[in-house]
Amino acid sequence: MMIECINVKENYNLFAKEYEEAIFHSVDSGQYILGSELEKFEKNFAAYLGVKHCVGLNSGTDALLFAIRALNIHEGDEVILPASTYIASTLGITENGATPVYVDSTEDTYLIDVNQIEKRITNRTKAILPVHLYGQSCDMDTIEKIAKKYGLYIIEDCAQSHGSCWNQHYTGTQGTIGCFSFYPTKPLGALGDAGAIVTNDEDLADKIRMLRNYGSKVKYYNESIGRNSRLDEIQAAILSVGLKHLDESNENRQAIAKRYLLEIKNDKVRLPYIAAKASHVFHLFPLLVDDQKRFNAYMLSKGIRTQVHYPIPPFMAECFSAQGHEWEEFPNASNLSKHEVSIPIYSGMKMEYVDFVIKVINEY
Ligand SMILES: *Cc1c(COP(=O)(O)O)cnc(C)c1O
Repeated sequence: MMIECINVKENYNLFAKEYEEAIFHSVDSGQYILGSELEKFEKNFAAYLGVKHCVGLNSGTDALLFAIRALNIHEGDEVILPASTYIASTLGITENGATPVYVDSTEDTYLIDVNQIEKRITNRTKAILPVHLYGQSCDMDTIEKIAKKYGLYIIEDCAQSHGSCWNQHYTGTQGTIGCFSFYPTKPLGALGDAGAIVTNDEDLADKIRMLRNYGSKVKYYNESIGRNSRLDEIQAAILSVGLKHLDESNENRQAIAKRYLLEIKNDKVRLPYIAAKASHVFHLFPLLVDDQKRFNAYMLSKGIRTQVHYPIPPFMAECFSAQGHEWEEFPNASNLSKHEVSIPIYSGMKMEYVDFVIKVINEY
């Protein structure tokens, strides 16, 4: 037996009948790209979040790429983002020729340290890009205040935070634009690649609708240089099922997290901290451990798979070595890379697995 870190099939099993019907229905419709399933999903996801517009795309990476492009952020411009995140948060910036400017994470939430943002702002700064990492919302009130003061856009990376809130506001709705991934393992996952942006800004939504479709609003009339990045009908139909059960899936993981927080008791392991105004949907359950390699090997020997998020942060990635960053610049982000371990959590995880994970960690 092996307990996986994330097992998407178990969440699928919970709603299998509905997924199968949705897939059959969309295959049978004969409409595969830019049809009624996508329209329906976009409308419903926007309504769920309480925003005016949602535009479905190929991936979360494209959501970030298009958000930054549509805001006309380019070479010579700077975008502020956390030092600890997944590489895709940075790629949207660099693909547009702009410069990523990193801010260290906090010691407790592992999210961007809002108290260090202002000192990184220059006259080239165009936007702040908070990442609601692991499923917990960043301090959006403070980020909003700073953005207003300096006239900056806020581009939210919500790839791990579907349904998560700051002070009752959903992530993706407090900034200029919210970028979502529906990669299968994410809190709202397709059964393939998919993503979307959400915004209250109609112009911005229109621009991105154009960019995803070769840069044209009217067929064969190309106003801008676009790409092909559409969310297909089958994935949209699958996502509509997932969206209907998003709160339930999130609650399933939150129930597991609650048990971990109460029952894991070991001095060699530090549990995640949730800020008072934040909600946490626990896309992942990150622990800090004394010895990452030893802990992972121990867990694996008991049949439990763990993962590190992320062993090499973007500022130290080989592809960005020309930027010349050092581990020491961002001590908290570096500490996460060296000590973070994510333990199994997913909707549909059996409670006896949860019991076993707790027991094994307490015996470590
Ligand atoms: C998954 C992820 C992305 C990228 O989404 P894709 O759909 O895989 O392109 C971006 N940012 C973060 C924080 C992610 O976890």
